[in-house]
Amino acid sequence: MTLPLASVLQDPDFINVAYIVAFVLFILGIRLLTHPSTARRGNIVAAVGMAIAVAATLLTEDVGDYGLIALGIALGTVIGVPAARQVKMTAMPQMVALFNGVGGGAVALISWAEYREALHLGGNPELETLIPILFAAIIGSVSFWGSNIAFGKLQGILPGKPIQLPGQQFLNLGVLLVALVSAVLIASGTESEGLFIAILVAAALLGNMMVLPIGGADMPVVISLLNALTGLSAAAAGMALDNTALIVGGMIVGASGTILTNLMAKAMNRSIPNIVAGGFGGGGTAPGATEDGEEKPVRSTDALSVATQLSYADRVVVAPGYGMAVAQAQHTVRELGDELEKRGVEVEYAIHPVAGRMPGHMNVLLAEADVPYEALKEMDEINPSFPEVDVTLVIGANDVTNPAARENEGSPIYGMPILDVDKSEQVVVLKRSMNTGFAGIDNPLFYNENTALLFGDAKASVGEVLSAVKEL
Ligand code: NDP
Repeated sequence: MTLPLASVLQDPDFINVAYIVAFVLFILGIRLLTHPSTARRGNIVAAVGMAIAVAATLLTEDVGDYGLIALGIALGTVIGVPAARQVKMTAMPQMVALFNGVGGGAVALISWAEYREALHLGGNPELETLIPILFAAIIGSVSFWGSNIAFGKLQGILPGKPIQLPGQQFLNLGVLLVALVSAVLIASGTESEGLFIAILVAAALLGNMMVLPIGGADMPVVISLLNALTGLSAAAAGMALDNTALIVGGMIVGASGTILTNLMAKAMNRSIPNIVAGGFGGGGTAPGATEDGEEKPVRSTDALSVATQLSYADRVVVAPGYGMAVAQAQHTVRELGDELEKRGVEVEYAIHPVAGRMPGHMNVLLAEADVPYEALKEMDEINPSFPEVDVTLVIGANDVTNPAARENEGSPIYGMPILDVDKSEQVVVLKRSMNTGFAGIDNPLFYNENTALLFGDAKASVGEVLSAVKEL
């Protein structure tokens, strides 16, 4: 007997098989994403998996109004495709924050819609559906609003410094209690859409107030935490909707986000509860001024002097940061490295785990410029050898080289591990002005006797140094 195609495609077994294929592709994609050379392929493999999961979900019987779904897809495509195509590499982190937030917001809205529908059908749903709905509402809303604030900080719409209200921790605790008590009331039988809305609003306030006080150096941890929360809320929505794809997809995001959060927190020497409750980064002295407001002198240099220093060195370390990404200087940096190596200078690249604005930012840029993988040295590996380095070239890095993190207990970034560039014999810092980095604090490195500053756009400065090296 031959079955009509439609009933084969809508067969739950067929859909489950399609989901399993999608999950395998997700995991394979993540595996491939772990190395720069295979990352592009990994992205495509995971995207194919997602396309299969979406198609399989659309085949499910009673999935909903296809007209509305088509409208949603059209809107998403019109907004998403140009945004992804036009975004500059340096604006990628804020786009990720925004898209992550949209995921959390969608989950919060789905949970609200599910609750409404249940009320219209005659009352609160079963507890096993209700609990994931309530969880998804709280976490999804926190994640949406928290990610919006993270977007604002990364985009420079909001200051990177902490914004703290008096009694912030008590306020946070208060709104968390409102959300939890309302959720418990609903779970124990109260049927009220008003209470549900109160949960969404309290969680929204919590999301805003949790991320606003978080400053500079702790943002990477918070961003990965928000990623993890969105994943977990999606998994909870999957339970409420009884959709395996959403559960598995959400758990993969939740698990990888949690692992990343832990790794970042460890790299920054911070505990997660500390960051969420704290509000570090910010304050400190203004750039160029001492504690009592006096001007501090810096030594500026020129391309020819830097070229001479570098050419006569045995060992040079490049410490790149966000400014290298802004200037898109990575290719010129690699050319300079090649030129120095031709002259017998050993060149290595010191990678701080939170340099730039996203995890692995420097690795991606340097891999794109074909810097050999073996020349990239992680912070823990390179730090002990800085005293034997003749010249360290700090290219658009600031916070990740700030010795205040090591020495000044009063500093908002105290305790964060840094690249010990100040311990090398000579340090040359490439930046445009005396402006601070993301954490908004002054960097004593710039005033050290063995530090010179080469002012200008990093790409132009490295280009000038390269030309000067070639002429020597
Ligand atoms: P910073 O933000 O501390 O410093 C960047 C420096 O680059 C600035 O001092 C700036 O100075 C300079 N700069 C900017 N544009 C240019 C240019 N075109 N040419 C030359 N210099 C330029 O960067 P770091 O990489 O040292 O530190 C990263 C910071 O970002 C940390 O505080 C980290 O916690 C935070 N962060 C990291 C995330 C991650 O996942 N990696 C995510 C979110 C935040 P000037 O303007 O004078 O040129």
